[in-house]
Amino acid sequence: MIPDATIDDAQRMLHTTFGYPSFRPGQQGIITALLQGQDVLGVMPTGAGKSVCYQIPAMLLHGVTIVVSPLISLMRDQVDAANDNGIPAAFINTSQTPDEQALVFQQALAGQIKLLYVAPERLETSRFQAFATRCDIALVAVDEAHCVSQWGQDFRSSYLGIGEFIASLPSRPVVAAMTATATQRVRADIVRLLGLHDPHVTVTGFDRTNLYFDVLRLANKDKAAWIIDYLRTHADQSGIVYCATRKETQQLADTINAALSTSGKPVAAAYHGGMDGQARDEVQRAFVNDATPVIVATNAFGMGIDKSNVRFVIHHNMPESIEAYYQEAGRAGRDGEPSRCTLLWNDGDVVTRRRLLDTGPDNERLSAEEMDVVHTAKRHLLDTMIGYCRTVTCLHRYITAYFGENSIIADEGTQACQGGCVNCDGDVHSSDVSAIARAISRCVHDVGQRVGSGKIVRILRGSQAQDIVQMGAQSLPTFAMLADKPEAMIRDVLNQMASDGYLTITDGRLPIVMFGPKAAQTVAPDFHYVMKTTRVVRKAAPSAN
Ligand code: ADP
Repeated sequence: MIPDATIDDAQRMLHTTFGYPSFRPGQQGIITALLQGQDVLGVMPTGAGKSVCYQIPAMLLHGVTIVVSPLISLMRDQVDAANDNGIPAAFINTSQTPDEQALVFQQALAGQIKLLYVAPERLETSRFQAFATRCDIALVAVDEAHCVSQWGQDFRSSYLGIGEFIASLPSRPVVAAMTATATQRVRADIVRLLGLHDPHVTVTGFDRTNLYFDVLRLANKDKAAWIIDYLRTHADQSGIVYCATRKETQQLADTINAALSTSGKPVAAAYHGGMDGQARDEVQRAFVNDATPVIVATNAFGMGIDKSNVRFVIHHNMPESIEAYYQEAGRAGRDGEPSRCTLLWNDGDVVTRRRLLDTGPDNERLSAEEMDVVHTAKRHLLDTMIGYCRTVTCLHRYITAYFGENSIIADEGTQACQGGCVNCDGDVHSSDVSAIARAISRCVHDVGQRVGSGKIVRILRGSQAQDIVQMGAQSLPTFAMLADKPEAMIRDVLNQMASDGYLTITDGRLPIVMFGPKAAQTVAPDFHYVMKTTRVVRKAAPSAN
């Protein structure tokens, strides 16, 4: 510890302890603020170097730094890495016996530990609180701080106790809230709910210009073949394939190995939260050491894994939010080299994701009203994800606009695409579907916002099905208005309108199509609506730039 340490001391420590020549964007400002006792909100993409931002102050400030992290499974790695860098670190979690925990507390109180990693739940235990009131706590670093907000993905009610914990300490430490994913709304929540005092806010660039973004709509039955084709043409590369379920990871890894592995050496290994810790460690190690080039994983894989030469990330299914997608896709190309992020999706993913909206696991502290907010927020996140799949504008701009919370839809691409994306490459065809969208909107009005999408489509196509006849739909002005359009196309436009906010599809077993917040725009004379129709699927998957 250096009394009244300055940024020059931090700089020296960056060289000597970490071996880096200079700070990365954002780091210097954050460290300066913390050393001066100012709270921090740091929003930096994965891989930008958030840990250094609190590890250096931890070494330079008096007392102990508490790192609150939800990732119990990674604590050991984080602690090992810190110790390797010469920072005395330890964790307290449920994997330890009470005696082991007592030893860590004792070391922290004796000043032998500078960094103490804990899960948020731990802060609420009386034992930890008794320790905390006796301990000289200089800094509380909250990792994955977006978990405190119901407007972000990954909301965890245990994060709501962190602000209270900090406020209960006899002497208020400086607080650093760090996250890779926070829209403006989430940022405001972090400041409010963690009780940050006039924080120094740093948001570093979200555009990862070495990543090429690709979106491909593909039926489930064709996804494995596409992936195998991609792996075959990129046999020298390492990458991650993300699947939605544990079962899929195993099946896909087996299919890939059956198709591609020679001499019994697997090309791909499955990884998911249902595997025991040892098996997971082995798979992870083989991937990091380049022994197994491809990992087929659920979203349990990746947090804290520091492998720089991941050349591609393929999503076998659409994730629940842009945050989740960007966090996972962002594991490609941490070394700055060109890398490719491909998202495979289809309408089945949308249906599955909508169904899952109601099943948040972490809601025991919430009132019905608060649950409604969570639900609305999740819908919004999902709609924006679907929008990403369907947009015809630059995918880089879509993502950065999202994190800046600008208007995405109005943000037609006028600027050159950084890093490249399939839309800017002109590999997609789009068509003007304004007339179809207008007809759908009128039909929703005609039926009084009371029926589901199947019926809307049948009415517009002039179906003679019994349920349509029985409801007297023939007399509606929009009956058979789109008789010449394919059913799939009308359905597609309807779904896109729902993700763009022109319509709302209610949840539940019998979803109803209603007007969304932008519905009125569809009757404006200059209403113009475009939809991505086909994507030019090349025979062989392209190389990573
Ligand atoms: P994050 O938590 O933001 O995802 P990490 O803290 O894990 O990122 O850092 C990502 C990688 O960048 C690590 O290997 C880290 O050691 C490295 N790193 C951090 N700061 C610097 C720096 N100033 N110069 C070079 N490498 C750095």
